[in-house]
Amino acid sequence: MGVGMKILVTGGAGFIGSAVIRHVLQDTDCHIVNIDKLTYAATLTSLASVADYPRYRFEKADIGDGAAVARILTEHQPDAVMHLAAETHVDRSIDGPATFIATNVVGTFTLLEQVLGYWRGLPEDRRAAFRFHHVSTDEVYGSLGPNDGAFTEQTAYAPRSPYSASKAAADHLAAAWHHTYGLPVIVSNCSNNYGPYQFPEKLIPLIILKGQCGKPMPVYGTGEHRRDWLHVEDHARALYAILTKGRVGERYNVGGGNERSNIEVVRALCTILDELRPRPDGRPHAQAITFVADRPGHDLRYAIDAGKTMRELGWTPKFGFATGLADTVQWYLDHAEWWRPLIYRGDRLGLGA
Ligand code: NAD
Repeated sequence: MGVGMKILVTGGAGFIGSAVIRHVLQDTDCHIVNIDKLTYAATLTSLASVADYPRYRFEKADIGDGAAVARILTEHQPDAVMHLAAETHVDRSIDGPATFIATNVVGTFTLLEQVLGYWRGLPEDRRAAFRFHHVSTDEVYGSLGPNDGAFTEQTAYAPRSPYSASKAAADHLAAAWHHTYGLPVIVSNCSNNYGPYQFPEKLIPLIILKGQCGKPMPVYGTGEHRRDWLHVEDHARALYAILTKGRVGERYNVGGGNERSNIEVVRALCTILDELRPRPDGRPHAQAITFVADRPGHDLRYAIDAGKTMRELGWTPKFGFATGLADTVQWYLDHAEWWRPLIYRGDRLGLGA
């Protein structure tokens, strides 16, 4: 992968995509073209620190619009694609799976078709150096029992929610475009991300904002579901390492080695809030925890073995979970101007007045 290459990022106005773009523009000399449809989950303000870089371009487009994608590829001539655009919230996939199929499956198919046509027209040296990095989740591997070993790159896919099924379908399409057409594809599967600029429907920002607004903190079931957590900036560095140093046709697992039950995470957040933003009535934030009816088909446990990515690419997470969580709480407390406009997007959050 060449110095100063141009990377087309899809979904760059989202949580992870914006972290990738900030990292690449601030820490490398690469150019970025960001394609984003700007759904409810998008926040261009997450890119305010880099939006004026001459190496950055934004294109508002749907990855499912083949003509628009073809035009953008021809005009910008990227050297690589990092594909993050997706519908990502499991609860929304249960209530309305159609957009998940449209974007995650059909949108990925359309993108692959357009990128394949573009790639075939490149001169040989650029075709050899080109990469299509498909960014996915550990949820495609299904649910682990309490004593099962962590997911490896060899674990068979067993998705169980409409979200994870749509991502699994997209992963299979990306792999098929490599095996059948020779497109230089790399796939990565990562565990739950947390950190600044995450849309407040996801567990960690939701609990922080509920605590800060003095509202009940909803926890599914008894909070026994277990996830591995990785700071989004560690994921962004892993993704760049996978793109630039990963082997074509391979899959790379990414995770933080921080397996926790949801209730452990929520209690840790409450303790941090007690310190940083005590309740006016002096009572502990944990008193606001409210157990609610479980999500249908809720996967019990995910755990990921990121050994291959660490060994082959020399990547390691920088953030310890306790520090990363405390920094994240402080970030949300300091950045109400970022999240306040978002709490009125849809009625799902229950954070409005
Ligand atoms: P997000 O929901 O925060 O952002 C998704 C972005 O994609 C938004 O900016 C949205 O506008 C854009 N988008 C949606 N549909 C589009 C379309 N049809 N065309 C163009 N843009 C579209 O998501 P995220 O949390 O940043 O996740 C990014 C990727 O990483 C996803 O593919 C997700 O499956 C994967 N992933 C997420 C996590 C996590 O914990 N958040 C973990 C592992 C993998």
